[in-house]
Amino acid sequence: MQPERITRMTVCARPFRAAGPRLDVETVANKRVVHNYGHGGSGWSLAWGSSTIAMRKALEGGTRDVAVIGCGALGLTSALLLRRAGARVTIYTKERAPDTRSARATGTWSPDSRIADADKAAPDFASVWEEMARTSYATYQTYLGLPGEPVSWSDRFILLDDAATRPAPPPPAMEAVRFASYGERVAGLAPPYRTLSAGEHPFPVARVGHGISMQFNVAALAHLLTNDFLLEGGRIVPMTFHTPADLARLREPVVVNCTGYGARSLWKDETVTPVRGQITWLAPQPEVRYGLSYRHVLVLPRPDGIAVQQLGESDMWGYGIADEIPDRSEAESAVATIAALYRRTRLAHEDRIDLLRQEGHSCLIT
Ligand SMILES: Cc1cc2nc3c(=O)[nH]c(=O)nc-3n(C[C@H](O)[C@H](O)[C@H](O)COP(=O)(O)OP(=O)(O)OC[C@H]3O[C@@H](n4cnc5c(N)ncnc54)[C@H](O)[C@@H]3O)c2cc1C
Repeated sequence: MQPERITRMTVCARPFRAAGPRLDVETVANKRVVHNYGHGGSGWSLAWGSSTIAMRKALEGGTRDVAVIGCGALGLTSALLLRRAGARVTIYTKERAPDTRSARATGTWSPDSRIADADKAAPDFASVWEEMARTSYATYQTYLGLPGEPVSWSDRFILLDDAATRPAPPPPAMEAVRFASYGERVAGLAPPYRTLSAGEHPFPVARVGHGISMQFNVAALAHLLTNDFLLEGGRIVPMTFHTPADLARLREPVVVNCTGYGARSLWKDETVTPVRGQITWLAPQPEVRYGLSYRHVLVLPRPDGIAVQQLGESDMWGYGIADEIPDRSEAESAVATIAALYRRTRLAHEDRIDLLRQEGHSCLIT
């Protein structure tokens, strides 16, 4: 893992809303608008569940002609679910994959990453979240084992050394958000993590946790969902909306609004706060099959490259930052952290082999 293997950097703003995703219904330009945006760092993870709720609300009035605005994770899943429920569906969108923000996600099961502020979410949001998480998790299982691996499982290691076990310094000067954490509600849904003993892993760190997690290979997944929607009779029309009044242009009486971070300007919804995230991509190495996190850097190998992401010392990392220009120094620093880990791992491995040799265990050394 070296900076010379960096192939590109991608940046996007997570659409965080303190109250949680917007899923209410309103009438605008004579259309029934069902909102489905504001999923923070959990948009892929919650997409099927959130879009199931939006789909039910869209069909409530009995209309079978539905427009979906947006072609990211939420737009694609809303459109597919509506189509499969028998509606005639057209996606109107400014961008589609690979140009959407969804296409720039890491691709891991992270259903409560920056999904709401624990102090500002509605009291019933936790149970809505649980329903979304369970529905999504079950639906994604049906995408396992397909050509191109749109969804797969991967081993994950959480490495904690002495530096990482020290308490994190306070977040930046702004008031910290108490990001909601709902993992307990779905305990048992995903395989649990367990602490490995020293002999069970090669890493030279104080503590190692191991688990298995669901992974979204976003390039393949977005491609598959787009193709499925088109094959099943859906339409995608390029269109940019400048104000909600532009909805009057559509022939459909019902609109599902899946504009993600774009809702902030289109809907003048200033409750959508950007949380900047950058991924550094390294050339793929098919033999690298596990993800890890170490010193606030996440590594996740995907078929289209190895994603290396600086996470910061708290979820406030990137909070309030809308700038989507890549930062090369952040990229190199994240890669250097992981390169140093592997250097130390190799040295520790060589030391162990030396020790075995001195003890006369030559038959064990390959
Ligand atoms: C670095 C990073 C890593 C992430 N990793 C993960 C992860 O591992 N797992 C996870 O679950 N989530 C992850 N996320 C979060 C996830 O990417 C988002 O929650 C998700 O992409 C939101 O999807 P969306 O469909 O709402 O928005 P978008 O993908 O932004 O889609 C919005 C769509 O609306 C269209 N649109 C917007 N405005 C207009 C307009 N005015 N007119 C017409 N069309 C418009 C856009 O063109 C686009 O098609 C990550 C986010 C970041 C930044």
